[in-house]
Amino acid sequence: MGANGKVVAITGGARGIGYETAKELLSRGYRVAIGDVDEVRLKEAALELGIETYARLDVTDPESFAAFLDLVEEQVGELDVLINNAGIMPTGHTHEEEDAVTRRQVEINILGVIYGTKLALKRMLPRDRGHIINTASLAGELPTPGLATYCGTKHAVIGFTEAARLEYRNTGIRLSTVRPTFTNTELVAGTEGVKGIRNAEPQEIAIATADLIEKPKPFVRVTKMAGGMVAAMKFVPRR
Ligand code: NAD
Repeated sequence: MGANGKVVAITGGARGIGYETAKELLSRGYRVAIGDVDEVRLKEAALELGIETYARLDVTDPESFAAFLDLVEEQVGELDVLINNAGIMPTGHTHEEEDAVTRRQVEINILGVIYGTKLALKRMLPRDRGHIINTASLAGELPTPGLATYCGTKHAVIGFTEAARLEYRNTGIRLSTVRPTFTNTELVAGTEGVKGIRNAEPQEIAIATADLIEKPKPFVRVTKMAGGMVAAMKFVPRR
């Protein structure tokens, strides 16, 4: 299935994987809108990519999220694909993590994805078509000591999306996850990543995500592990 001018909205599209995914989808003929909490970077990204529809969006605020999707449907067209990509990954030992930092991870990485999914379902179900892609991580499948809270939030993204996928399996709505390995973006700057695993480039995740839209698969996993999956990933913060 080709792009045919399908409308895609991407959260966290100002930089990193979201930005590269917007770029890849534009090159394949999709119509793309981006939202991000970082207004300055968002505007720069939209200018660079030639995206006309963009808006400040905090995924933890359902009203702001709904307003973004309304804008997309008004200015670009009926939403075909929502990519719930926005996420954060603070580092540090779990027992030392400030409660506010724990809360923010849960709010952005889990609540933001659930809010986005609900808002997209409400728009897509009456039309009986659409695709919701939730960005998880390999940390959503593998225990990742050193990143326990983040790992928990990404497991939640996979659990939530898989349950919703089964719930809506007899409709025209697709729900799927992208599960990237550690990837060279500002999210992991200041860390050494995972021992023994080479990082991916954000363009590789962008291509895998765009391919997922075009192929009937429930998820796409991008790994850089020789010999397949390992039992656990040991995250190494920079000393
Ligand atoms: P990034 O930090 O480069 O970009 C994330 C973007 O999300 C930023 O532009 C940021 O401003 C935005 N954002 C943060 N909070 C937001 C909010 N409340 N509302 C709206 N936007 C918000 O990170 P990235 O590496 O591009 O990560 C994108 C997604 O991929 C995240 O969900 C991340 O967890 C996931 N992921 C990243 C890696 C990696 O190693 N980089 C690996 C696996 C999964």
